[in-house]
Amino acid sequence: GLSVSKDFDFFYFVQQWPGSYCDTQQKCCYPTTGKPAADFGVHGLWPNYNDGTYPSNCDSSSPFDQSKVSNLISTMQKDWPTLACPSGNGVTFWSHEWDKHGTCSEDVLDQHSYFSRALSLKNQTKLLQALTTAGIKPNGGSYSFSSIKSAIQSGVGYTPFIECNTDESGNSQLYQVYLCVDNSGSKLIECPAFPHAKCGSQIEFPSF
Ligand code: 5GP
Ligand code: 5GP
Ligand code: 5GP
Repeated sequence: GLSVSKDFDFFYFVQQWPGSYCDTQQKCCYPTTGKPAADFGVHGLWPNYNDGTYPSNCDSSSPFDQSKVSNLISTMQKDWPTLACPSGNGVTFWSHEWDKHGTCSEDVLDQHSYFSRALSLKNQTKLLQALTTAGIKPNGGSYSFSSIKSAIQSGVGYTPFIECNTDESGNSQLYQVYLCVDNSGSKLIECPAFPHAKCGSQIEFPSF
């Protein structure tokens, strides 16, 4: 739109490890389309400002419209699965991401472009491959925080931000990986700002 959406400085491209979403006190529910692959899934592509703040819910006149992404749905079910309860087919999660974040970048990425850019970023970053190449496997083992960070840095070529959560026993584990994308959505960049979150010096990589 002409003036409905706000300017922003860059995107966080956020991927989640399903084993860590599920392996907490909150639990998870597999999507109605079946248990997702043991791979990182997209959480979202989030417009952000350099000072760490971010715009949200920028255009209520542009709701998520499944018909605009009909050719992407099967790939979204695979690469952007929902794990929240109750089980869903993904539409609630994708709608939330579009309404809260996507509407704030619609001057540069319309709805179809927003979802297809996020899916291609997932393919481009190959997080699981970066980790397993460095011997870091989702087997419930514990790995040093710095080895995880440098494995992703080496594989992807950009410094990630790692967000941890805690399993049922209170152990710190690999939950989300943030990478940054320029404000046209076209290329990965070094992050201008990092979120705040604490990880242990040793973190678990649970199976899924
Ligand atoms: P949480 O409080 O669980 O970290 O985040 C809740 C939600 O707030 C996220 O799912 C996301 O929508 C939004 N959010 C949290 N941190 C950031 C951030 O640094 N940048 C942006 N753009 N959104 C964020
Ligand atoms: P955020 O606001 O942090 O971008 O998105 C989180 C919202 O999406 C929450 O309302 C959460 O319940 C919902 N959601 C649905 N499926 C998932 C999922 O697989 N992972 C996460 N982190 N949130 C999900
Ligand atoms: P530095 O800029 O020295 O690498 O890190 C400054 C602070 O941010 C330290 O407390 C460090 O532990 C934390 N930090 C650096 N990178 C990450 C990251 O990827 N994830 C989290 N959760 N904290 C980080």
